[in-house]
Amino acid sequence: MTIINVIIVGAGPAGIGIASLLNQTDIEYIVLEKKEIGASFLEWPKNMEMITPSFPSNAFGQIDLNSICESTSPAFSFSKEHLNGVEYSEYLNAVTDHFRINGRTNTEVKKVYKKNGGWVLETNKEQFYFNYLIWAAGEFQNPQIKNIIGSENCIHSSLIKDPDSIEGNDFVIIGGYESGIQIAYTLTQNQKRVTLINPYIIDDKFTSDPSKVLSPFTYTKYNDLKKSNLYTEIIGEVDKVSNAEENYNIHIKNRIIKTSEKPICATGFSLVKKPIEKFIINREDGKPKLKEETDEFFGQKNIYLAGPSVRHDDHVFCFIYKFRQRFGVIAEDILRKEKYFEDDIINLVQRWKENGMYLSDLSCCDVECVC
Ligand SMILES: Cc1cc2nc3c(=O)[nH]c(=O)nc-3n(C[C@H](O)[C@H](O)[C@H](O)COP(=O)(O)OP(=O)(O)OC[C@H]3O[C@@H](n4cnc5c(N)ncnc54)[C@H](O)[C@@H]3O)c2cc1C
Repeated sequence: MTIINVIIVGAGPAGIGIASLLNQTDIEYIVLEKKEIGASFLEWPKNMEMITPSFPSNAFGQIDLNSICESTSPAFSFSKEHLNGVEYSEYLNAVTDHFRINGRTNTEVKKVYKKNGGWVLETNKEQFYFNYLIWAAGEFQNPQIKNIIGSENCIHSSLIKDPDSIEGNDFVIIGGYESGIQIAYTLTQNQKRVTLINPYIIDDKFTSDPSKVLSPFTYTKYNDLKKSNLYTEIIGEVDKVSNAEENYNIHIKNRIIKTSEKPICATGFSLVKKPIEKFIINREDGKPKLKEETDEFFGQKNIYLAGPSVRHDDHVFCFIYKFRQRFGVIAEDILRKEKYFEDDIINLVQRWKENGMYLSDLSCCDVECVC
């Protein structure tokens, strides 16, 4: 059994990002990744791009929105604002190599449990004994079709790897947030007819927070989409999809829509929890309940969550530029528990704040744009 102080699970932006902070200390850590670095991005549909723009603004104290560690910028590496999945995974690999992040790929975490007052983690290869666990297993690999009876009659949008070459002419998309609009746009660009069903009006801009309304990048596509005569939009909630005589029946209140192609669900993702679900208490919205000061799972000392599932009250940390701000909060908690010198912690926290990797006062996140 290998003894290691900190284990980080997942080599996506959350796992590699937080490892880059621990690299600035002498805390012993390892990143365990079941596939390869940036695996989720490699599985993105072919024409999907980052919706958050990249810009090499680091020198003026405003780190690239998609950077996961200081002195790096995907915009600088690729001379591009909106990287695709393959490019972003290359960025993650470059960061891993440059900062010599200690990681192991093809290593899947299978079990986590307490033993003799300590923690044990089992992978497909070996066992570890650890003190701190940072769960950064992401959401992309757990597509969600919730509250629809007959969900097996649908296909999740993330599983359509090449929307440009999908067969068929007439599609129904369930869900009108980022992924739904993106795929509807691609299909109409390919001269396919699209009916999109969403429970609420899509362009009702009730907030400036792109975690709750369409990002400007997708909004631009939505504006084009609305002008297309191939596009129809229905406001309604789908509760059932059935399959009869080579047709799919989509049930909305008082109405059934028929389609010959499998309905596409762009209904989101949820945290990959296996094998730590037993340590997680959920909030009402289904997201994990966390301790606000440290991002430890509620009631679990030394087991932290990093990544897009982080929520505190109404604050949604689903984008990189948001969840990276909590990396420093986790690292600081570990340093304090490891009895680091206070002056060293203050210096590191100051550095992380300057680089957009530390946010503890969440009251500042409520500020809305006025124009
Ligand atoms: C379709 C989509 C588009 C998005 N676009 C953007 C965007 O443009 N900008 C933005 O800021 N955010 C975006 N996000 C949100 C978020 O930034 C991404 O989901 C990002 O990938 C999250 O990073 P992560 O490190 O938490 O997860 P991931 O990138 O998914 O990484 C998790 C890693 O954990 C590994 N893993 C899982 N289980 C285990 C296990 N048991 N053992 C070992 N390893 C394991 C996986 O293989 C994976 O490599 C998007 C999300 C989605 C779903």
